[in-house]
Amino acid sequence: MFFSRDASIRRQFAVFLGAIYVVLLPFAAWVLFHQWTAYEAARENLDDFGRFHTTLIAMERLSVERMATAQMLGRAARRGTLEQTELSHARGAVDDRLQALAAAIGYKACHHCGELSTSLDTVTANLHAARERVDALLADGPVSATDVSVTDRLADCGSQLSTLAGASVAMSVQHEPNAVRYIYVASFAALLRDQAGQLGTQATQVLAGGSPINAGAYRAIERTIGRIKLLHWLSATVVHQHEALSDRLVAHIETGYLDAGLTYAQNTVDAVAANGKTPSTAEFDQRYAASLAPITDLRDDALRLASTALQRDEHRQGLQLMFTAIAVALLALFLVFVSRQFHRRIVKPFVDARRFVLDVTANRGMVRSAPQGYRGEIRDLFSALSALKVSNDRRFELEKERERLIQELRLMAETDFLTGLLNRRSFERRAIDMLSDRRNNDGWIVLTAFDVDHFKRINDTYGHEAGDMALRKLSELAREAWRVDDIVGRIGGEEFAVMARVKLPDDATVPARRLMDRLRKEIITTVDSRTFSITISCGVTYAHATNIPSLESLMRQADNLLYEAKVSGRDRIELAPFDPRRGES
Ligand code: GH3
Ligand code: MG
Ligand code: MG
Repeated sequence: MFFSRDASIRRQFAVFLGAIYVVLLPFAAWVLFHQWTAYEAARENLDDFGRFHTTLIAMERLSVERMATAQMLGRAARRGTLEQTELSHARGAVDDRLQALAAAIGYKACHHCGELSTSLDTVTANLHAARERVDALLADGPVSATDVSVTDRLADCGSQLSTLAGASVAMSVQHEPNAVRYIYVASFAALLRDQAGQLGTQATQVLAGGSPINAGAYRAIERTIGRIKLLHWLSATVVHQHEALSDRLVAHIETGYLDAGLTYAQNTVDAVAANGKTPSTAEFDQRYAASLAPITDLRDDALRLASTALQRDEHRQGLQLMFTAIAVALLALFLVFVSRQFHRRIVKPFVDARRFVLDVTANRGMVRSAPQGYRGEIRDLFSALSALKVSNDRRFELEKERERLIQELRLMAETDFLTGLLNRRSFERRAIDMLSDRRNNDGWIVLTAFDVDHFKRINDTYGHEAGDMALRKLSELAREAWRVDDIVGRIGGEEFAVMARVKLPDDATVPARRLMDRLRKEIITTVDSRTFSITISCGVTYAHATNIPSLESLMRQADNLLYEAKVSGRDRIELAPFDPRRGES
């Protein structure tokens, strides 16, 4: 059995309660921890998304820098005026974003921020290398058409940024399916923007290089257009599947970019090929760049929706965490409350009742009153117990009284009222007991019978009351003359008998003599101040402890001896002669 047989209910209750806490508390802790982890994940999602957002914007800025670079290289090739303001501006915008991204990666360590930081360092290094090359080309000028491929290195930086953007959200977005769709659309739109920028850069290069167009450059333009159409199709597909994303923005891309910007770039390249009329690189860049707005609109809309979804998720997880914490706290409070109530209302009353009942039965009425302050059944229980206690107390009092009365009756039945000595009946009973007690077999049993001499005369002379006084005095002295264990009884009106043990027969008459001596000295004063004294006559017989005759026989012998003492003159002892038959057997 789980509990030992005598385990107290209080201990059993404590063990039971402990078991409940042992099961519930780890479970509550697990639920709390789980919810806390979910909340932390939602917060990290938001941080990751912030990095993703910054990266996409950096990609766009880099695309602008790329076009500006291509334009600058184009002008340099044609020995045009070198206005670096636009390029510096574009580079500044890229640096701004990259710094913001570096801050977002370094600001708070996330589990993959180390990798992101390394990737960002690589991108920054590659970008600076590419820029140095561009600056060197611009400084050395004139630039040949082949040198313009340095813009491809900038395009590589864009691709690396796009990888970084994917890596920054790859781990976390899985938790929020809505956000995933928006992030896909934002990614497609950002890639589309990057490729559209790439197309602008390529067209600018063709424009700067003039006719005939390098065959490789032409194929590169075709590939870029292919990627643009694929990315547009991908983003349009996801947008169609999701209501929150506006189809209108996709339509804007079709009309504002595909039909306008892209066609304009194609036409410009075709015009260069056909040696027709072409715009200046600045004119082309300006008009082409304007057509890119619908793509960034779609990207920004998707980013906004993703941000909202992730914020909502974080908020929801925060609320759930709060409610879970409150529920756990309430559960703990409820448990404490219930266990306290259970202890107060069930366990404690039970323990009190048990102690009370045990006190009532064991301590025999010496107990305090029943515990107070309970309600309902418990109060009824204690009322009933109190009633039991009262009746128990009464019973106890009655028992005490009965004991006292029995003692008194026993005393009255056994003792003589006048002298307090044993009466004849109890004397005989105890004497028989002494005779039959075989524990002490090496001594002698002595029976002394004595009688007041001429007592009738004392009564007649001094009155019955004086006679009583004399009898009381005699009894008192007799008790003193014999030992405590010896049996002294008043067996008739003024006749007494004593049963005693002695070591030797010679000691048989010692107490009787002592008594007679004391009596001779004792002067009794009557109420009317007359004085007298009394004498007694004694008959003493004895037997060895191993050869004891019956009490009756002993009494008869003692009586005969007493008679002899009377006849022989009174105030004397008549001792049985030594008889070997009396001796040891
Ligand atoms: P003896 O020397 O031969 O013994 O003479 P006695 O007078 O003592 O003997 P007897 O038997 O003739 O008288 C006994 C008297 O003791 C008779 C009775 O009135 C008296 N007596 C017996 N019991 C009591 C008692 O309790 N109180 C008083 N005061 N006298 C008692
Ligand atoms: Mg007498
Ligand atoms: Mg007598």
